[in-house]
Amino acid sequence: MRLFNTLTRRAEAFVPLRDNTVRMYTCGLTVYARGHIGNFRTFVCVDVLRRALKYVAGYQMHHVMNFTDVDDKTIVGAAKAGIGLRAYTDQYIAAFREDAAALGIEPVEDTPRATDDANVKAMADMINALGQRGHTYRSDGSIYFKISTLPSYGKLARLDYEGIQSGARVDSDEYDKESARDFVLWKATKPGEPTWDVGCGPGRPGWHIECSAMALRLLGESPIDIHTGGVDLVFPHHENEIAQSEGATGQEFSRCWVHIEHLLVDNQKMSKSLGNFYTVQDVRDKGFRLSALRYILLSGYYRKQLNFTWTGLEQAEESLRRITDFLGRVEALTAAGTHDEVGARVADAVGAFDAALRDDLNTAAGLGAIFDLIRALNIAMDHRQVGAGDAPGIMSAFDHFDRVLGVLSLRRAEDAAPPIPQADIDAAMHARQDARRKRDFAEADRIRQDLLSKGVVLEDGPHGTRWKRK
Ligand code: AMP
Ligand code: ZN
Repeated sequence: MRLFNTLTRRAEAFVPLRDNTVRMYTCGLTVYARGHIGNFRTFVCVDVLRRALKYVAGYQMHHVMNFTDVDDKTIVGAAKAGIGLRAYTDQYIAAFREDAAALGIEPVEDTPRATDDANVKAMADMINALGQRGHTYRSDGSIYFKISTLPSYGKLARLDYEGIQSGARVDSDEYDKESARDFVLWKATKPGEPTWDVGCGPGRPGWHIECSAMALRLLGESPIDIHTGGVDLVFPHHENEIAQSEGATGQEFSRCWVHIEHLLVDNQKMSKSLGNFYTVQDVRDKGFRLSALRYILLSGYYRKQLNFTWTGLEQAEESLRRITDFLGRVEALTAAGTHDEVGARVADAVGAFDAALRDDLNTAAGLGAIFDLIRALNIAMDHRQVGAGDAPGIMSAFDHFDRVLGVLSLRRAEDAAPPIPQADIDAAMHARQDARRKRDFAEADRIRQDLLSKGVVLEDGPHGTRWKRK
């Protein structure tokens, strides 16, 4: 497997350091609001990376993805809502889990919350270790990382070390490259803010220390194999994670850094602060299926920006339909027989798909291999050169593709699930039955149309009425 490593700015051969197990950390959602589909571009691409490592490269995973449930934004949000931090963030963690499942994202091995006791303790321990190695100083009860004590500071973001303003401090969690400064590790307690006292004075963690501490606590000794997140995290977040982890241990923190480019709307980054975002629920409300959203989010090369449009979603829907129509045709094959050429063509496609995924997750080329196969086999079926004996081989190739892409299984799950609650469908069908009995066909038709507008098609047959998805 080759992966582009932001640290070296090169695609490199990737092999885990230990035991055939990839120890990977992903910066998770800051849970002060429901995640938007820009966030989910990153999480879906990371999911494809995880699946490619498992199902193409054959590794085991120990993958940690955290919830940032204490930082400047969550604290402000909880205070505005007038509830405790934990209760406030609980609702967005639940929403994240729901959206991630609806997008077919595989559950990862560990999903720590920054405010879990063991994590806050690990943060304090790391800050103390940094102190012992001379990397910190205190000011007004807060503890800062002194970047001039670490000559390698800036190596990920490629900052000009000479230009770094040593001595100037920054308290906020986010700031730009031009203002690289000593950053806060532990913030002194402010009135009304949550506070912990677990070994480095009363206060609360800065955002950056959270990920360093959770990654090393859960993944074990550094270096970990892969650290991932969206490209906006390179600076300051990941640069500071490196400074903290390497400053505290004296060892490399992560061997490989993988960054996902942004999802754009109207050629601007989709973000909560700009207000130009859609959630998974918005996509559903527009009548689209989330399998189509997943498809679009993974269809482009992860290192290129992707511009989100509703037309793009319609095209994704169409592409998915081409795959499912093809598989329907294969399932319906009745003529007996197996054809060597078909087997060879399928094996070529699997080889091309795997090679594309091994080449820094080139999903676009992987999908290209799938559609080339579909085109060739559709023509072969037109000429009756594919038999029922070929079907299992074709199906198992598509099962393989989908273990990595996760769109077809998601679509099948969507097909099986009613688009509105089953009880509502039952009630509407019952009401329609009543209307028909009373010969009120206008009402019966209205009910049918109403269900149709909600994605439910009624089919009257000899054994009664059944529903299916539109
Ligand atoms: P946050 O909740 O802001 O910490 O973001 C969670 C993840 O989503 C991070 O890895 C971000 O880099 C990523 N992210 C935020 N906005 C976008 C976007 N428009 N496109 C892709 N990833 C994004
Ligand atoms: Zn992080």
